Amino acid sequence: MSKTFLAIGECMVEMAPTGEGTFSMGFAGDTLNTAWYARKHLPADWNVSYFTAVGQDQVSDQMLEFLNRSNIDTGSVRKLEDRTVGLYMIQLKDGERSFAYWRSQSAARQLASDTVHLEMVMSGAGLIYFSGITLAILPADDRKAFLQALRTARSAGAKTAFDPNLRPRLWEDADTMRACVTEAAGLCDFVMPSFEDELAHFGDANAQVSADRYLAAGAATVVVKNGPEEVVFATKSERHAFQPDPVRNIVDTTAAGDSYNAAFLAEFLTSGDLPASVDAGARLAGNVIQHRGALVDSLEPA
Ligand code: ADP
Repeated sequence: MSKTFLAIGECMVEMAPTGEGTFSMGFAGDTLNTAWYARKHLPADWNVSYFTAVGQDQVSDQMLEFLNRSNIDTGSVRKLEDRTVGLYMIQLKDGERSFAYWRSQSAARQLASDTVHLEMVMSGAGLIYFSGITLAILPADDRKAFLQALRTARSAGAKTAFDPNLRPRLWEDADTMRACVTEAAGLCDFVMPSFEDELAHFGDANAQVSADRYLAAGAATVVVKNGPEEVVFATKSERHAFQPDPVRNIVDTTAAGDSYNAAFLAEFLTSGDLPASVDAGARLAGNVIQHRGALVDSLEPA
């Protein structure tokens, strides 16, 4: 198996408030967060690569520099002439955070428009990781091409992992979201939803129902995260529940699910031990939520 962990999706500029009218610039995105933590948890002989599309301007270059400094390979990233990267701004009002987005024309929306390039990028991977947000931002025809490239890579031996990350506002309508997410899940070795989303958008009665629904769609292994509640993990032949350790000092739950997925996959890719992987995910996520921000640098690998 190729020792390349390939994450595909959109990384955005993040403007976080530092005072009255002042902001600091960072970079974030669900699949990027997972790549970033996977880099920290995989052995050095694994290559962690991020595939997206950016512009040819200064802020796009800064994003790539950030990824490279994080030891994430950006060699296959597309650099488009007429677009730039998406941006979101965090706003604080009475201690509550809200987000404003400028991403509808972002370069990442074109990441699958060159199918030959996409297939070439996927063909080098041992594991391909993507999310419902990766799919949501693509034009409908490019989504089809993306899933076809995934099928091809998988039949050539790549493993595939998917977090549905259901965000209806990014999709044209909720039915399309549900249909596309279900199709994508059916092409995956690992489907890693969060129950809160599945309850809201599929109406599942509990995490077992979510697991069974994705297994029925064709997923090989489903891992349903559920905040402080039990993680339900299942294959066609078995189903288990795992209770994460309680976390009392929760500071910021941003990237709980993304970091969970990274540690889970890193453990599974190196040991092949499913219960140990479920545990590794919960340990990292439990640690991440005790710190501020999505990308927590000071953590020791679990
Ligand atoms: P998401 O960030 O995608 O909504 P979840 O909230 O389901 O993801 O959390 C992902 C994982 O993070 C959980 O499976 C658990 O391991 C850990 N986690 C999240 N919230 C808590 C909590 N309150 N106490 C303990 N662990 C938590």
